[in-house]
Amino acid sequence: MEQKRVWLCLAHMSGNEMKFIQEAFDTNWVVPLGPNVNGFEADLEAMVGHGKRVVALSSGTAAIHLALVHLGVKAGDEVICQSMTFSASANPIVYQGATPVFVDSERDTWNMDPNLLEEAIRDRIARTGRKPAAIIPVYLYGMPAYIDDIMDIARRYEIPVVEDSAEGFGSCYRGQVVGTFGDYGIMSFNGNKMITTSGGGALICASDEVKRRVMFYATQSREPVPYYLHKEIGYNYRMSNICAGIGRGQMTILDEHLAWHRHLCDVYERGLQGLDGITVHVNPDDRFDSNYWLNTILVDPERTGGVDYEQLRVALDAAGIESRPLWKPMHTQPVFSGAPAYVNGVSEHLFAQGLCLPSGPYVTDEDAQRIIDIIAAAVRGK
Ligand SMILES: *Cc1c(COP(=O)(O)O)cnc(C)c1O
Repeated sequence: MEQKRVWLCLAHMSGNEMKFIQEAFDTNWVVPLGPNVNGFEADLEAMVGHGKRVVALSSGTAAIHLALVHLGVKAGDEVICQSMTFSASANPIVYQGATPVFVDSERDTWNMDPNLLEEAIRDRIARTGRKPAAIIPVYLYGMPAYIDDIMDIARRYEIPVVEDSAEGFGSCYRGQVVGTFGDYGIMSFNGNKMITTSGGGALICASDEVKRRVMFYATQSREPVPYYLHKEIGYNYRMSNICAGIGRGQMTILDEHLAWHRHLCDVYERGLQGLDGITVHVNPDDRFDSNYWLNTILVDPERTGGVDYEQLRVALDAAGIESRPLWKPMHTQPVFSGAPAYVNGVSEHLFAQGLCLPSGPYVTDEDAQRIIDIIAAAVRGK
């Protein structure tokens, strides 16, 4: 029998999604508002807690964009962004005509280095006479950042924080869900994220007032009068009632998804721990509780006898298993070549050695064992 292909991270339905979608059709709520949107937002608000409000939007990218719009980020401003990330963290800065300033990572979490963040803030103030308009830390592959330290610095300099928690859905730091520490938090429900709406996102905001304002921007900034009156530029970023129905179904199995991602981390860690030069990225200490959205390893060719991550990727691919290099740091991307960057070598080192392994409900224990065996054979074969 031909073996199935093992993908990096596939959407996985609970079976409850169709019930919510059918309800939307039956009641003709096939629009970007309605009972599923309200219900999904209520589910998300219950999950994040801390008195936060949530606005369902068309994507995580739209959520970052509207956070910057609400903050009034404009042409000529600078916004600090973690360099090691997916381009969607930084693109909305440019949509606003502002300039991204990239800050490198530290080795424990792979996320924004607080020391380098403070250095960057001081240097930008010294050079431009103005402080950055916002800070965007990221929770790579689900791993929380040193967010207490980042928030301390942000408060001292009075700079708002937009947590890009798109990959950290359900991850906690000191028992608190990520995305609730800063002024805004981001969720993404793209097809390969922790849960999906087929495409969608959400913005976590501090109050009802902010939520109303963000909803206003997301629905073309229409003033509350019977005719169409606009005093500000708007966006078409609201989530549809159909997508929100998928989201409500997904929320019914969120706990199982989280448990399985974390279980796979244990399996990978136990299976790979004896292999010289292969390191599974795990919580640095018990303050951290990653969702392990994607399980990741570092491959050090000096200790594997010359085997690098690309050789492992090719060996896995030949066996029908998808794996993927880590995000290429933004300060090394041609599109951002003009942007200021504060670097320490960590993100470039991670990109040179890192590989994402298949994760999520469709990856069985047997699949994970096969992946471990292929990696072990490649390293021991040397
Ligand atoms: C997926 C992702 C986003 C964007 O989310 P979309 O819903 O795809 O627009 C933003 N930041 C990070 C780090 C992501 O992984």
